[in-house]
Amino acid sequence: MSSISSKDTPELKELRAFMVKEQIESRGISDSKVLFSMENVPRHLFVPENLRPYAYEDRPLPIGMNATISQPYIVGLMTELLELKSDDRVLEIGTGSGYQAAVIGKISAEVVSFERIKELVSFAKENLKKADIRNVKVFFGDGTDIPEDLGEFECAIVTAASPDIPKYLFRYLKEGARLVVPVGNQCVQELLKIKIHRGKPEISYHGSVRFVPLIGDKGWN
Ligand code: SAM
Repeated sequence: MSSISSKDTPELKELRAFMVKEQIESRGISDSKVLFSMENVPRHLFVPENLRPYAYEDRPLPIGMNATISQPYIVGLMTELLELKSDDRVLEIGTGSGYQAAVIGKISAEVVSFERIKELVSFAKENLKKADIRNVKVFFGDGTDIPEDLGEFECAIVTAASPDIPKYLFRYLKEGARLVVPVGNQCVQELLKIKIHRGKPEISYHGSVRFVPLIGDKGWN
């Protein structure tokens, strides 16, 4: 395919259905809400125009400013780990293209997402508008140092590599909440799910991943 417009054509829908079947479902993602969402969020609207022909391939893609849109499988895995329900509020750190937030937004009530690069805040807002996703709020700012008056969330997701478990996010999490975050060094990380159970964090481990660094007050310098 040489060039792709922003229209969601039957051909693109078919590519997306193939992506979900071959890259997501066949690797063990089984939550029907996640599969439905990924089949219905047009990923090609969340990548730079010249990369649209590659939007449904099995890989991350550059979105400018040294950031990437994650590989579809990783988006599926992290979304499934959140155990989303339709009335959940979700906090995201690292909006990037807005794609992960859109996939979550299709399943949950509201997504509040922080991005530290101004150009990407505008990019994500435009992409979400094109995709007609209206329940994602994107804010410019350091997600490791967010305002205190955001309320509480049932879920949080960090889509950049954190040097440590981001304990500073715990105060935003309700009892039973789930936090998904890659923790490690700047080259490779382990994907962690942290569940708040009776006020205490329970950690499980979900494989090696590679994310760009979480840069900020409580991230990397
Ligand atoms: N979720 C994104 C998507 O669906 O396109 C992919 C995120 S990209 C791998 C990581 C993003 O985290 C980058 O856009 C980067 O600028 C952002 N980031 C890094 N540190 C941050 C911080 N402290 N606060 C907010 N965003 C941050």
